Amino acid sequence: MKLIIMGPPGAGKGTQAAYIKEYYHIPHISTGDMFREAIKEETDLGLEAKSYIEKGALVPDSVTIGLVEERLSKPDCKNGFLLDGFPRTIPQAKALDEILHNLKMKLDAVVNIAVDESVLVDRIVGRRVCINCGAGYHIRNQQPKQEGICDVCGGSLIQRKDDTEETVVNRLKVYASQTKPLLEYYENLHLVKSVNGIGDIQEIFKNIQMLLGGNE
Ligand code: AMP
Repeated sequence: MKLIIMGPPGAGKGTQAAYIKEYYHIPHISTGDMFREAIKEETDLGLEAKSYIEKGALVPDSVTIGLVEERLSKPDCKNGFLLDGFPRTIPQAKALDEILHNLKMKLDAVVNIAVDESVLVDRIVGRRVCINCGAGYHIRNQQPKQEGICDVCGGSLIQRKDDTEETVVNRLKVYASQTKPLLEYYENLHLVKSVNGIGDIQEIFKNIQMLLGGNE
C-alpha cells in the first residue's frame, strides 16, 4: 500500500495514520513529526524549520522535498508507505510524482479525511500529545486515564507550540489556499478516497479499511 493521508489540520490524520500503519505494516512518514524531531534535537534542519512552524507557515519546498525524497528511498518503503502532511502544495505533489517515478513506484490511494471547518479550531486547540511517543489526546473528547499522562507509555502530555488559537487560524488559511487544491489534483488521477472524519475513531478506521479494500 502506497498511500497519502490528507485532510485539514485537526481532521485526525495522525490518529488514523497510527491505525493504518499498524494494520498494513507500512512506515508512517509524517513531515510534521520529522520537523518536530529535528527541532527537539536542534539539528540544522530543526533550526531552519522552527520559525516557519511556530508561525503556522509552511517550511519551504526546497527543504521539505529533499527530506521526503531521502526518506522514501529507504528500504523500509519498498513495499509501501503512508505519507502524512506531504504533499501540501501543488509543487510538492509534482515533485512527489517525479520521486516516485524515479523509484519506480506508484501511489495506490489518497485517503481524504473530511471534517467541517467549524469543529477544527476546537479539535486543534484542545489537542494534547505525548512528549515521548507522540500519542494524541484531546482535553474533552479523548482524555487519558490520568490527566497529563500518556496511557501508552506514561510520558507527559503537552500542547504543541503551533496548536494555539492564533497559529491555528493561519494553518487553516494555508490549508485552504495551498493544500486543499491538491484534492482536485489527485481526483483527476482517480486516487481520492474520502471518509467522514466526524464520529467514532474505530468506525472511521473501519470505513478507511473498506475504502482501501481491507487487504493487509
Ligand atoms: P503537521 O504536523 O502535519 O500539522 O505539520 C506541522 C507543521 O510542520 C506545519 O504547520 C508546517 O509548518 C510544517 N510542515 C509539515 N509538513 C510540511 C510540508 N509538507 N511542507 C511544508 N511545511 C510542512
